[in-house]
Amino acid sequence: MVEFPPPRPIRFPPGGTMNDRKLVLVTGGAGFLGSHLCDRLLADGHDVMCVDNFFTGRKQNVEHLIGHPRFELMRHDVTQPLYVEVDEVYNLACPASPVHYVHDPIQTTKTSVLGALNMLGLAKRLKARIFQASTSEVYGDPSVHPQTEDYWGNVNPIGPRACYDEGKRCAETLFFDYHRQHKVEVKVARIFNTYGPRMALNDGRVVSNFIVHALKGVPITIYGDGGQTRSFCYVDDLIDGFVRLMKSPAELTGPVNLGNPGEFTIKELAELVLELTGSQSKLTYRPLPQDDPRQRRPDIALASDRLGWQPKVALREGLINTILYFERLLSSPERAANGSHAPARARGATATAGVRLAGGQE
Ligand code: NAD
Ligand code: UDP
Repeated sequence: MVEFPPPRPIRFPPGGTMNDRKLVLVTGGAGFLGSHLCDRLLADGHDVMCVDNFFTGRKQNVEHLIGHPRFELMRHDVTQPLYVEVDEVYNLACPASPVHYVHDPIQTTKTSVLGALNMLGLAKRLKARIFQASTSEVYGDPSVHPQTEDYWGNVNPIGPRACYDEGKRCAETLFFDYHRQHKVEVKVARIFNTYGPRMALNDGRVVSNFIVHALKGVPITIYGDGGQTRSFCYVDDLIDGFVRLMKSPAELTGPVNLGNPGEFTIKELAELVLELTGSQSKLTYRPLPQDDPRQRRPDIALASDRLGWQPKVALREGLINTILYFERLLSSPERAANGSHAPARARGATATAGVRLAGGQE
């Protein structure tokens, strides 16, 4: 059995003494990224209002925050207007896994577009700065590699992924129109594939699928020949990028790429997961979904120059942490509920049993 490290302590300062203490709205705050963002904002001394309709998010992701004096949780669908008083808005509400966003594509477009309109209207009324969780999917199946922010993308507007890709593109349009027309201070991040603890067991994205399949000893499903590439960012790195972008000077509107530039084929990812879990799972090949991008890697020069931001957690290190989380979730779902995890950096030394630490990649 793997011995689990003690949960990562989340330090909550008393609040009230910070000069820049804010009440921050996080939409999609009970999701994978949103829940980590709530933790970070509370740890930084802010008050957090978490809004979610629980489509793909879970109360367990934030249950460790319930009762915290500076945290509140509200069930709300961002396709409806929201009347609250806050100082800043992070707009993350939207299913992010292809499996979930193609499930109800019309609702996905509504969430992206009406959600952006409603949150921008709120930000305009409150004169609040607003952050948008945009995506590398705005580049579609890119013909420019690595992707720079000035590349306009190659998106099929009528394909199955269009509800997400075009929804997010339209949301970006709205953000920049509100900025030009109403002087709203906007911060648009284009997020590349991110993984880590608190991804749902049924999330359907590649990292969680491969780890769960490997831990269960069932075949790992590779779509296509596995030669397509992605770049994988560990969640703690990404959240640090969010906060840096939000705090940056007003003229830095973005879009800014946030992701880890290390590029791997999907087959390489499967092999690394097998190595780290010690699983005997076989690789099995399935048809490539329509419009699945063939390659993806962020150019992060802008984030590096303007935010001083660089991802620090290597794929091997982040995967070990994520494997430990899923091991715990599979063996005892309630124990893993809040996805507490040791900092990836400190993890390696204590991993045992199923998680193998030897080997070369990175
Ligand atoms: P997630 O599915 O875990 O979180 C999304 C959250 O939004 C969930 O809690 C869900 O219940 C909530 N939500 C969905 N529709 C809503 C609605 N209409 N009203 C209120 N809440 C709603 O996904 P995630 O990975 O945490 O992604 C968060 C954001 O980051 C999304 O906007 C996604 O597009 C963006 N993003 C994520 C990645 C990634 O790799 N994780 C990459 C690119 C962009
Ligand atoms: N993929 C895969 N097996 C899976 C899940 C995904 O081979 O079980 C592939 C998918 O076809 C894509 C890549 O992994 O090429 C990343 O998929 P994901 O759904 O994580 O995110 P995307 O980057 O496509 O939005």
